Amino acid sequence: MTELFAQTTLPHIYGLHPFYLAVTLGAMLASWAVGFMLKRRFNEYSQRPIPMTGAQVAEKMLRDHGITDVQVVSTPGRLTDHYHPLHKTVNLSEAVYHEANVAAAAVAAHECGHAVQHAKAYAALKMRSALVPVVNLASGFLQFVLPLGLILAANGHTLTLWIGVILFSATTLFSIITLPVEFDASRRALAWLDQSRSLASLDHRKAKNALFWAAMTYTVAAIASIGQLLYFVMRLMAARR
Ligand SMILES: [Zn+2]
Repeated sequence: MTELFAQTTLPHIYGLHPFYLAVTLGAMLASWAVGFMLKRRFNEYSQRPIPMTGAQVAEKMLRDHGITDVQVVSTPGRLTDHYHPLHKTVNLSEAVYHEANVAAAAVAAHECGHAVQHAKAYAALKMRSALVPVVNLASGFLQFVLPLGLILAANGHTLTLWIGVILFSATTLFSIITLPVEFDASRRALAWLDQSRSLASLDHRKAKNALFWAAMTYTVAAIASIGQLLYFVMRLMAARR
């Protein structure tokens, strides 16, 4: 899983507009529910022992795909697992790296799914990587541009809000492009776990379920981002009248 792009925590400065409030509260509730299910499933599947550690699963999956230039390393923290395309490293959190259970195998294989995407020049991953610097820059500006834009728009000056909407569109596009990248990495992970017979069939279903809830966190973030973008477009349209 790549770092979750948290857009659901924009400042409260946008006031208590019912639409904005509904989107923000809805997103908060949905991400709480998804986070709850994700944690529950991962805790449960961490109790299902298998013969290989997460690190061994990752090494084997990379080898089976003929990938020799990617290293599997342990990274501190929990849920810090990610693939780093520049360093060419599959970074597994300590528990995933060292422990041998269904949850660790699912996460390790998912991160290798990203390495396989990179090796195969998967289009959505390339597009997502290209957007990273744009999004980092945009989110830095957004916290000033959007509040200022809303204030100026209320006084009839819409240029700043236009800029805010364009920048926010870039971050929304990013959260949308993240979806095929994440779903595809899980698909590759499950396909490999299945054909390599790394998991028993019952455990395979559990791995699938764990990855489903992980993907839902990105889905909620993308929907929330679209909802917020709609709100800012709405405000822009209202100001132009
Ligand atoms: Zn991922």
